Amino acid sequence: MKKLNKIFEVMNSVESLDYDFADIIELTKQCKYSNCTHTSETKCAVKEAISDGILSAERFDSYFRLKGEAEYVSKEKNKTKAIDYMKQKKLFQ
Ligand SMILES: [Zn+2]
Repeated sequence: MKKLNKIFEVMNSVESLDYDFADIIELTKQCKYSNCTHTSETKCAVKEAISDGILSAERFDSYFRLKGEAEYVSKEKNKTKAIDYMKQKKLFQ
């Protein structure tokens, strides 16, 4: 049961990420391409905001990393594997 709680925690944290980083989400909506990865695209609102000094690269990095990891865990069907991954990354302790 304890393991399951951990999974729910991660699921919730995916939602709270969207809340904590609402400004970044808004920026991502302004990207030229809806499937923008915000890495190498030319018309990327996130990259523009970073180069204009509106958004700090560190903040975006932490958002990008946390979102990727949280999504991995919520998509992983093998929850034991997901939990091991979280432990490895020292996530959500
Ligand atoms: Zn982008």
